[in-house]
Amino acid sequence: MSNRRGFLRDCATATTGFVFAGFGNVKPALGWQSSRAGKRREVMVGTRRVRTIDVHSHVYVPEAWDLVKDHVAGENEANSRPVLNPRNASDRLAQMDEYGVDVQVVGINPNWYWAEPELARKIIKIQNERIAELCAAHPERFVGLCSVALQHPDLAAEQLEEGVKKMGMRGALIGAMVNTDELSAPKFNPFWAKAQELGVVIFIHPMGPLEFPEGQARFKGRQNLVSLVGNPLATTLALSHLIFDGTLDRFPELKICAAHGGGFLPSYIGRSDRCVDNGGCKTISKHPSQYLKQMFFDSLVFTNEGLRHLIAETGISRIVLGTDFPYGWQHDAVDYVLGVPGLSDEERVAILGGNAAKLLGIHI
Ligand SMILES: [Zn+2]
Repeated sequence: MSNRRGFLRDCATATTGFVFAGFGNVKPALGWQSSRAGKRREVMVGTRRVRTIDVHSHVYVPEAWDLVKDHVAGENEANSRPVLNPRNASDRLAQMDEYGVDVQVVGINPNWYWAEPELARKIIKIQNERIAELCAAHPERFVGLCSVALQHPDLAAEQLEEGVKKMGMRGALIGAMVNTDELSAPKFNPFWAKAQELGVVIFIHPMGPLEFPEGQARFKGRQNLVSLVGNPLATTLALSHLIFDGTLDRFPELKICAAHGGGFLPSYIGRSDRCVDNGGCKTISKHPSQYLKQMFFDSLVFTNEGLRHLIAETGISRIVLGTDFPYGWQHDAVDYVLGVPGLSDEERVAILGGNAAKLLGIHI
């Protein structure tokens, strides 16, 4: 399209008709390219029914909470909501049906990196058992990312292997750092080596205040800046360490998937590239922007333009649908993918489910 007026005209004449939703976003009209069978929204792209895969959703295991609650301060009460309990799938499935999500990838945000090995084994065991139960009860709707005790890297490698080989997990969910250690610290190499050997995805999700123990004062204010700024900043730092400290060179086949569109990194990767060009960053083998093309990113960037730009920086094959269920960040994530201007039907299908199916070994 050459300009906004031309774009409006194109939209008005297109069979797929858009409406504008403010803040520069283009969202599909209600019912556009979708139909409903009963209460389940069936997402269509063109004439094709697309199975959608949401790679970013959460569960919470009450029995595990009992093991950590005396050590974890400031946990959000939202974590206690019933829909998060993997043994309460009916409410969750109803919401997935409403949102047009066919398959969810479930995982648990780490709050156990302080635990010694024996307790960590207990926490991880109950969590992974509950996730596996949920996936076994609804194999068409859920796949799991296992929890691992990454503060004990060799144990985490064992837990990852057991989760994948014995429990059917598709990978693991980890934080953006572990206590005071960055993910690029050499101590984590056994875990990265195991993840690469198994060929499974490692989903990096920030842990909010746990990752800013010394610097929380700067996030205090009238809004929750730990969530708004701290979380994407934590992911940005984690990915930057993996790039600049050489982890992605050491393990080039690693399948890293970053929450929240990789935080701020893809939108500002030019500064990192320039650092290589001007000699300020000497230990890296290629431009940081090239490493983005060997990672995956969920679609949680909230605007059509943001998603368009994320695709431009990383490539269409790197983007997977994410909702952050059930925290209400983007229950309309499917519509945002449908509404990004300039994508072909094949590209929309890839983001909605095709890319995740390949990444996670899901047959759709
Ligand atoms: Zn999340």
